[in-house]
Amino acid sequence: MNLHEYQGKEILNSFGVEIQRGIVAQTPAEAVEAAKKLTEETGTGWHVIKAQVHAGGRGKGGGVKLAKNLQEVEQIAGDIIGMNLITPQTSAEGKKVHQVLVTEDVYYPGDSEPEEYYMSVLLNRANGKNMIMYSTEGGMDIEKVAEDTPHLIFHEEIDPSLGLMGFQARKIAFNLGLSGKAFKEMTKFVSALYKAYTNSDSSLFEINPVLKTSDDKIIAVDAKVTLDDNALFRHKDYEAMRDIREENEAEVEAKAVGLNYVDLDGNVGCMVNGAGLAMATMDLIKQAGGEPANFLDVGGTADAERVEAAFNLILKDPNVKAILVNIFGGIVRCDRVAQGIVDAYKSIGTVRVPIIVRLQGTNADIAKKLIDDSGLDVHSVIEFQEAADKVQEVLS
Ligand code: GDP
Ligand code: MN
Repeated sequence: MNLHEYQGKEILNSFGVEIQRGIVAQTPAEAVEAAKKLTEETGTGWHVIKAQVHAGGRGKGGGVKLAKNLQEVEQIAGDIIGMNLITPQTSAEGKKVHQVLVTEDVYYPGDSEPEEYYMSVLLNRANGKNMIMYSTEGGMDIEKVAEDTPHLIFHEEIDPSLGLMGFQARKIAFNLGLSGKAFKEMTKFVSALYKAYTNSDSSLFEINPVLKTSDDKIIAVDAKVTLDDNALFRHKDYEAMRDIREENEAEVEAKAVGLNYVDLDGNVGCMVNGAGLAMATMDLIKQAGGEPANFLDVGGTADAERVEAAFNLILKDPNVKAILVNIFGGIVRCDRVAQGIVDAYKSIGTVRVPIIVRLQGTNADIAKKLIDDSGLDVHSVIEFQEAADKVQEVLS
């Protein structure tokens, strides 16, 4: 589950990570109030208005702007709230902005120039260790840094059973070229960041930029946080941060009915039981010259109700030209599933695309007969290859 910048910063701050202070606003008037309050609390003269959407690169799309007085706060907040923000990380249609974060300006002048760094904490699945990735090249697209100047990206591996060691935090501060107060601040920042990452059960914390202010404070200016969905039951307060306006509609709906669904770009919808078979089915679709429109694991109980919910989800996608149902009847009997499909089909009424059903396992033959006799636009096959051929046929 992804979070908004302001939510990520809240979590960071609760573990002692220094952040750029901000207050969320839903309207320009609220933004002005937020700005006044921030000036009282932090003494900031200027403010930054930041669109809150689940996408990076907001600055490039005009979703992050500096306001030098309250009139500008009101005007910029008015421009950004309600806008369709298009960034390198959104689709071409962009994302609607519902709220902004009004923050203090932390790039104020002083004894030294503000410096931007990149830092992220994530799991290295290859060796089962946590990893801090960091770079002196902050504030810009890290993928581009990785491509053009990979030697400017450092990695620090952390054994989860030992945790982050003091020498590792110092090494990071050293590699970032820091000394004196900034060096100490950075070691504190890194330790707190690592603690936030592990204690929140996150799979990613990306802070770009981490800022060294002109008076040598180290603070998080941005925060991209991905929480591990499988650990959310331990964090009811984080679960409450979910903003479904930012999520894929079909995926939200699938979750509500307990289906494992991931929306994809292709033209063949699929409904499968078991994740492994689902992956194999997606390969099969590609081999037959199609592209999977989704990943969908209906799980162990493929009864009429679930099958209908699954069909409805798949049919919402206008790109879908055919549906391939691939169910292995192990615990669940094929004839039961077949009956479920027939019932669901009748309950939906008109299904606008052909359906290819492969049922294999217990009572597969009875199931095939049930479907063949139903008189519906459903093609029943038993072998994998037959299914592929049939997909190819209905697509051409
Ligand atoms: P992103 O574009 O979605 O990654 O959003 P960020 O939160 O990283 O902000 C984008 C850019 O806005 C940063 O890289 C900074 O250059 C700029 N920015 C952010 N906060 C401030 C601030 O307090 N003052 C000024 N002058 N610029 C800021
Ligand atoms: Mn950023």
